[in-house]
Amino acid sequence: MAPAPRYTKATLPTKICATCGRPFAWRKKWARSWDEVKYCGEKCQRNRPKPEPAP
Ligand SMILES: [Zn+2]
Repeated sequence: MAPAPRYTKATLPTKICATCGRPFAWRKKWARSWDEVKYCGEKCQRNRPKPEPAP
C-alpha cells in the first residue's frame, strides 16, 4: 500500500481562487476538503461572484 501523500512546501498543490483569481496554496485546514475548496479565504467565499442567471 502506498503511504498517504505528504505535502511539503515544495509540493503543495495550488488552486485559483474563484473570486479574486489569485493562486493560493493548500492549507492544513483544507486537508479533508481540498477538492471542494474554491476560494482563497473567508472573504472571497463571502464575496463570491453571483452565479450567472439561468437562461
Ligand atoms: Zn480570493
